[in-house]
Amino acid sequence: MGASPVSVASPVWIGLGANLGDAPAALAAAVQALGALPGTQLQRCSRLYRSAPVDAGGPDYYNAVAELHTGLAPLALLQALQAIEQAAGRERPYRNAPRTLDLDVLLWDEERIDLPQLTVPHPRLYERAFVLLPLAELRPGWASAAQLQAVAAQRIECLGAWDGLA
Ligand code: ATP
Ligand code: CA
Ligand code: CA
Repeated sequence: MGASPVSVASPVWIGLGANLGDAPAALAAAVQALGALPGTQLQRCSRLYRSAPVDAGGPDYYNAVAELHTGLAPLALLQALQAIEQAAGRERPYRNAPRTLDLDVLLWDEERIDLPQLTVPHPRLYERAFVLLPLAELRPGWASAAQLQAVAAQRIECLGAWDGLA
């Protein structure tokens, strides 16, 4: 009785990508796993996108962005993301190698995080259409027209609603 609950959860945006195996299924499972993390709620998820690999070869990528509210600390969330990647069979033979699942912290509320293991906002966020487009769905008006124009030459296609859609 008495005190009203104080929310300590932060809004966090996670970029999901995969281009090996059944990538859409891996993304859908990852969205469910994100929502099941301790102290974490899945708020929304973007539509599903398919994009050409950037700075890499291999099959097309499937991409989406999920919005969470989490009470986890940043490094605890990063560790949880890496555990979900591992469970999906992620391997890192070389930089930008094709992958069964990649989960990146894109934005953490309005915060800047500069740790050896974690940089937020994600340093390559603005270079990537496969991040900016799904993120712009969840945060309309957040990316400027100039920022969207800067990635307009990258091949990407929206596949519409999908299993991960919350
Ligand atoms: P990119 O960072 O260009 O998207 P990548 O996702 O392929 O490349 P990974 O091999 O998945 O790179 O991750 C390499 C390291 O990046 C991780 O071990 C992690 O500690 C670090 N890292 C730094 N900032 C972040 C972030 N915002 N989200 C996820 N990992 C991050
Ligand atoms: Ca990445
Ligand atoms: Ca990553």
